[in-house]
Amino acid sequence: MSWDDPVSEIEALLPTLTGIRRDIHKHPELGFEEVRTQRLIKGWLTKLGYEPRECARTGLIADLRPDLHERGRTVALRADIDCLPMTELTELDWRSIHDGRAHKCGHDGHTAILLGTAAVLARHRERIAGNVRLVFQPAEEGVEGGGAKVMVAEGALDGVDEIYGLHNWPGYPRGELRTVPGPIMAQVSSFEITVRGRGGHASQPQDCRDPIVAAAALVTGLQTVVSRGLGSAGGAVVSVCTFESGETHNVIPDFARMTGTIRSFSDATSERVLSRMREIAKGIGAAYGVAVDVALETGYPVLVNDARCVSAVLRVAGGLDGLSLSERDLPMAGGEDFAYFAAEVPGAYFFLGAGREGEDTPGCHHPDFDFDDELIPTGMQIFLGLVRDRLSAPA
Ligand SMILES: [Zn+2]
Ligand SMILES: [Zn+2]
Repeated sequence: MSWDDPVSEIEALLPTLTGIRRDIHKHPELGFEEVRTQRLIKGWLTKLGYEPRECARTGLIADLRPDLHERGRTVALRADIDCLPMTELTELDWRSIHDGRAHKCGHDGHTAILLGTAAVLARHRERIAGNVRLVFQPAEEGVEGGGAKVMVAEGALDGVDEIYGLHNWPGYPRGELRTVPGPIMAQVSSFEITVRGRGGHASQPQDCRDPIVAAAALVTGLQTVVSRGLGSAGGAVVSVCTFESGETHNVIPDFARMTGTIRSFSDATSERVLSRMREIAKGIGAAYGVAVDVALETGYPVLVNDARCVSAVLRVAGGLDGLSLSERDLPMAGGEDFAYFAAEVPGAYFFLGAGREGEDTPGCHHPDFDFDDELIPTGMQIFLGLVRDRLSAPA
């Protein structure tokens, strides 16, 4: 067994890891409810000689070399472990046994990759000149503000020098790794705007303050937040996604309500977007004689990759056969709570393409999605390569 070239070890583990991946897929658990998954991970790590500690209720952290934690460098590797609140529509043998719960983002695969990495690392523990912290994170899919924030608050990154995380992505071709220094995923906020007018008989609009007309003007006005408010720099998305008002055809209602999402890649852009939204809301309220209220909920912050950590990922991945590197279409406007880890210590997040050539591979969050098991060895090779790269000094 060679630490410098663990390919044969990875191959030997694959049947077991694929089995575990499918078992987790079959028994998906929502954010902060990952009790069975946590037990499975804990059992696997304990058998390998780790002493896993519970963190963020249903998460776990484990150190490869707690003896070197204070004395050497510590590199953290993270997997998210939760599923989505949706129903699986596939006919796979390992399809979810629970309605309304399914691993449709591939976190089952991310978990299997980190479990496999843990197994190889454990066999070469003495040869690794530093500590590796394995971070199994609950609740990535937005429950209660995400599990990463809770893990950071509970000290999951105490003493950690760098952190790495990955995500499968069927929207990118298989065999491609995509990452970029700086912002890679968006700051996510949601908004709810209520428009309060005065309702009445539909034949007497002069006695009313029609909230529908005002809200419609507001939807149109919001289209200018990015196009006229940010100029050529752009870099934000404002989408109105729901619009509700009224109950019947001959009554002007009192009230209209809309909700939507905002994505941006810097705090400054985010502030500019929010201030333009408030100004437009206020102006339209005054113009139409209605009361407009804008409520905002801030989600995950911008995920910012550290340039040196990205270089390490590219160095490692560049040395692997059959893997090409790209920055195409990055940053992307999705949100990811790895942002909290990467804000705490330098880190890098990267995507492994999973799109099959000539096929319309179902994307993450699609009911037909399934994690591509062929990414397990690739993910392991990169995680192991990063450990080798970052902790290469002799013990
Ligand atoms: Zn997801
Ligand atoms: Zn995901």
